[in-house]
Amino acid sequence: MKILVINAGSSSMKYQLIDMSDESILAKGNCERIGIDGHFKHTTGDGRKAEYDVAMNDHTEAFVQIKNALIDEKVGVIKDLGEVSAIGHRVVQGGSIFKESKIVDEKVIEGIESLIPLAPLHNPAHVQGIRACIDVFGKDVPEVVVFDTAFHSTMPQTAYMYAVPYEYYEKYAVRRYGFHGTSHRYVSGRCAELMGKDIKDLKIITCHLGNGSSITAVDKGKVVDTSMGLTPLDGIMMGTRTGCLDPSVVTFIMEKEGLTPSEMDTLLNKKSGFLGISGISSDDRDVSEAAEKGNERAKLATDMLEYQILKYIGAYTAVLGGVDAIVFTAGIGENQSSHRQKVCDKLGYLGVEIDAKTNAEGVHGFEGKISTENSKVDVFVIPTNEEIVIARDTAALVGKA
Ligand code: ADP
Repeated sequence: MKILVINAGSSSMKYQLIDMSDESILAKGNCERIGIDGHFKHTTGDGRKAEYDVAMNDHTEAFVQIKNALIDEKVGVIKDLGEVSAIGHRVVQGGSIFKESKIVDEKVIEGIESLIPLAPLHNPAHVQGIRACIDVFGKDVPEVVVFDTAFHSTMPQTAYMYAVPYEYYEKYAVRRYGFHGTSHRYVSGRCAELMGKDIKDLKIITCHLGNGSSITAVDKGKVVDTSMGLTPLDGIMMGTRTGCLDPSVVTFIMEKEGLTPSEMDTLLNKKSGFLGISGISSDDRDVSEAAEKGNERAKLATDMLEYQILKYIGAYTAVLGGVDAIVFTAGIGENQSSHRQKVCDKLGYLGVEIDAKTNAEGVHGFEGKISTENSKVDVFVIPTNEEIVIARDTAALVGKA
């Protein structure tokens, strides 16, 4: 069975064609600058590449490029489109409606559309992607949606409520949803596999640290709390996002600077975090390099990040009543070993002990344990793989249907 996995954004669409017999990636690529001018990139599992500018006015035109590349004489990986058994889509916001992955039908599309107020940038693009997919592949190829929020849907109400008047929860569904759920689900499951234990016997804290970052407490395979909230702005500081702050900071700056809600939203989402503190870059590599060369604001940014990760691990250890394993994943979690070392050095009170050499060498695709045999908590680096979760859910649902 071959599954096409789609991650549709407003101006980009990433894809992977996965052969489920061995879960290998047959081809992957990205349609960039959709609706602007159009740039297409495609790489096959055996290293063949295509990259060119091509007009893509909308998601349907982007799908035509994907389709053509998949069956192309030079860079194709299948003979006939009929070999694509099903298509799995990543969807950012499933709200309280979608607690698990679903086969797409008109009612599911309407459900995703009804959640647009909660994800104004993402859900419209996902709907465009799904509809475009139907245009190009036809109604007979089943489509499945996998939600970033679904893994977090087990959170208890005490964890997901905000202490604003209850009516806003009832009227507008204002609550914590959490994001990166597919990644937290993959790495927590993989962590249990690597430990050779049943996830139902484990308390795991998963740290997804990328451009966007979130930390999740997983008890017996179920999420009990997560750092992102109503939107992906909450939690620890990120590339350009603030993470949590005193809400009064928002109204205070708005009043002082005469900012509109939309301008303030831009400040919180695009001008803050690593970029806002360091004044250098939103990319951890640039900021960490500047910090090493003595730039004080860059050093402050990296110190703040490590401090905030430490605080969440402490809080979630309390929530879980102990912790068996801590997992680092995503761009920063997988590659920036010095943050891992500095955070874990402060977790001695939990009995955490890191093997400095394994940690320093455990980058660029490394998967494994970075804690010592004496450590009371196992610490892992696990490269995330959201696509494989989407492909597995798609295959399972289509198989059942
Ligand atoms: P996104 O959240 O957009 O998927 P990533 O998970 O790729 O982002 O994370 C981006 C962050 O990870 C950046 O801050 C970058 O510095 C860091 N990062 C990504 N790849 C590497 C790498 N190979 N080495 C060091 N840091 C990396």
